[in-house]
Amino acid sequence: MAETSPKNRCGYIAIVGRPNVGKSTLLNHVLGQKISITSRKPQTTRHQVIGIKTEPGYQIVFVDTPGLHKGEPKAINRYMNRAASSALKHVNAVIFVVDRTTWNAEDEMVLKLLQPDTVPTVVAVNKVDLLEDKRALLPHLQFLADQADFKAIIPLSALRNEHIGALESEVVKFLPEGQFFYPEEQITDRSQRFLAAEIVREKITRQLGDELPYAVSVEIEEFKEDNGILHLAALILVERKGQKKILIGSGGTRLKAIGSDARRDMEKLFDQQVMLRLWIKVRSGWSDDERALRSLGYDDV
Ligand code: GDP
Ligand code: MG
Repeated sequence: MAETSPKNRCGYIAIVGRPNVGKSTLLNHVLGQKISITSRKPQTTRHQVIGIKTEPGYQIVFVDTPGLHKGEPKAINRYMNRAASSALKHVNAVIFVVDRTTWNAEDEMVLKLLQPDTVPTVVAVNKVDLLEDKRALLPHLQFLADQADFKAIIPLSALRNEHIGALESEVVKFLPEGQFFYPEEQITDRSQRFLAAEIVREKITRQLGDELPYAVSVEIEEFKEDNGILHLAALILVERKGQKKILIGSGGTRLKAIGSDARRDMEKLFDQQVMLRLWIKVRSGWSDDERALRSLGYDDV
């Protein structure tokens, strides 16, 4: 039995980095499935999402962290920082994702939160497919090596699936020997409801970009199967009336587009026909209110 073989390895790996460097993309490609939503806007990932990868001999439990931010006053940002730093505790290794040859104050701050001397840390230099001058890479790898005692520094492209295998072999070394935590076929511990809400939120972010910065939260109010069809109702909470108007769009076109994009992704994910209803409610100032956050489920760290 694979699970009881003493040679099996199993443990937690955190994926860490400032917003937009490609953490969620990396997780999705390592797992070969869409678990963590991605977008061009930073701060898309609010929750600590785990993905599980089981291969002969090892099981990696990945922790995708929300972006780390400089002290912004809003409760939602404090929550996200807490979520990120708590994800760093109790992991066997950390994948520190950076974007090509960029190194800024935010990367610096993330590095400060990490403890490369205590927790084995591997740097993933992501998006190298976008590098125009590949020669710039070599001195930068040296620069990174000088920043801390990293176990390895691996240039890769999460999006194009290049060198992800090398990264994986590098981190597997740090998993302790032991039994698998999860059944081999399980790829996430998140509920289908959660994944459905994340898909809706991703479509909103993609449709609206700058117009509706992070003022949106999604709750799945109905999730039931009837006659082989999955019936879903999602409540979209916004902060202001104006935002509700923007979301609906003229003649409801925007909301319709969000709904049909989301439905398509859900049908792929759940491998089933989906009926999706969306509705919007104004909930004033929620992102500034810790209690409101808790009631929306942002307290899972
Ligand atoms: P996160 O905030 O760190 O989780 O970043 P995301 O995974 O959401 O990615 C942010 C953006 O960078 C998205 O538009 C991704 O498609 C893009 N991206 C991520 N990895 C790569 C990569 O290897 N190459 C390129 N060209 N784009 C990437
Ligand atoms: Mg992300």
